[in-house]
Amino acid sequence: MAQLIKNETVVLEIIDIGTDGEGIGFLTENEEHVDKTDTLKSNRGFAVFVKDAVVGDVVEAKLVKVKKNYAYARLEKVIKPSSFRVEPRCQFHRQCGGCQIQALDYNKQLEFKENKVKNNLIRIGGFDESFIEQVMEPIVGMEEPYHYRNKAQYPVGYDRDGNLITGFYAGRTHSIIANTNCALGVPGNEEILQLILAYMKSNHVSAYREETGEGLVRHILIRTGFKTGQIMVCMIVNGKGLPNEQALIDALIKIPGMTSISINTNTENTNVIMGKSTRTLWGTSYIEDKIRDITFRISPQSFYQVNPVQTEKLYGLALEYAGLTGKENVWDLYCGIGTISLFLATKAKKVYGVEIVPQAIEDAKENARINGITNAEFYVGKAEEVLPEQYEKNQVYAEVIVVDPPRKGCDEVCLSTMLKMQPERIVYVSCDSATLARDLKILCEGGYELKKVRPVDQFGHTTHVETVCLLSKLHEAKHHVKITLDR
Ligand code: SAH
Repeated sequence: MAQLIKNETVVLEIIDIGTDGEGIGFLTENEEHVDKTDTLKSNRGFAVFVKDAVVGDVVEAKLVKVKKNYAYARLEKVIKPSSFRVEPRCQFHRQCGGCQIQALDYNKQLEFKENKVKNNLIRIGGFDESFIEQVMEPIVGMEEPYHYRNKAQYPVGYDRDGNLITGFYAGRTHSIIANTNCALGVPGNEEILQLILAYMKSNHVSAYREETGEGLVRHILIRTGFKTGQIMVCMIVNGKGLPNEQALIDALIKIPGMTSISINTNTENTNVIMGKSTRTLWGTSYIEDKIRDITFRISPQSFYQVNPVQTEKLYGLALEYAGLTGKENVWDLYCGIGTISLFLATKAKKVYGVEIVPQAIEDAKENARINGITNAEFYVGKAEEVLPEQYEKNQVYAEVIVVDPPRKGCDEVCLSTMLKMQPERIVYVSCDSATLARDLKILCEGGYELKKVRPVDQFGHTTHVETVCLLSKLHEAKHHVKITLDR
């Protein structure tokens, strides 16, 4: 194969989708010999990863980084569009870091996500393909894959001409794309953002500059309760307050549904968006939303699932997999504001929730109280510390353990404690199928059997996918008989 060089333009047929949603095509000495069968993957030639190219497209792409066996290229022209290519709703879909696959037909997106989960379980989890096909149920898709997000965090800054802007970060950078009308978010956010920008301009309020650490407004957080219509605005500020706060309040309270306006202080030089302390400027310090019949109070710092419609389906599955009869003690690890815990509490004897963010546990306790749920207890702390402590010191037991960790998955100590506790069932809710596969391998090697796997699409147009799994304790019949006879 002739030596490929940077900036060279190549023509490719895109025949696969990479884990980050990019199109993959192969270059061979003779284009006619491109092999499209999976079994011959390694012989398919020189792989070229093209961001924004859709599987099935024939494209012209410019090589931007050439490695020994593969290259990255920029999409220059779609020569022949794929039958899976659709018209994206957002004009910024290519630059913006929020969406990766808006140009891919939604049903094909679902297929891609299902395959991603399946491949990770096989490759990282070490499960057989035929076994995964048996236990995996079809992905739960969205009926309306646009405008599903109840939360957005908009960075505030300046464009090249020094104009104040807000929007989203471009992919893999911190340069802001001035887009206040995201196709995944609540349409009403646009008006709120314009009011805030107008307030900032007329009161000479500066935006934070990452390079120098100067300036005030870093981010604007907007959250909406889809069922209640309540809106929260939280200004994340490099300081304790804002000039003329009353002017901001006066502007925002004209928006129907405005419920909570606050200022969060973050003076650190960090990528973490929110700081530790929040001051309420107007209204309540939280908004409320409902999932099924349960009301949740949500503070600015607390985690709450961003897609409430799919969350209802996700939690419904977690509850179904938990198989509760009313007699069980259940641990809900990484419980956030107690969303899954309170769902479980309606069907369990007792639920114990653990979460690292103190404010979220405050919300969880309050959520139990306002819903009249008395059989849920919450602990602030790391799951990998609280669970062993409660198990070893207080001999707590659980028939069912539910985990819903962040992307990095469960801590090893947490997994080994679960294995010592030997619950009948483990329900694993995951937002990263690679760490899920890694953890399932450990649990299955420790005496559990994977019974069910079901992906749920919570994040249309992105490459993320949520997965719910049921694991069941292996009861070895022979082993059991032997023990009984020995006694
Ligand atoms: N089950 C909840 C939250 C899931 S998100 C829901 O569905 O709403 C994961 C949660 O884990 C976050 O709230 C995060 O703050 C928390 N977390 C992160 N690391 C943790 C740890 N080591 N121990 C306990 N909680 C942790």
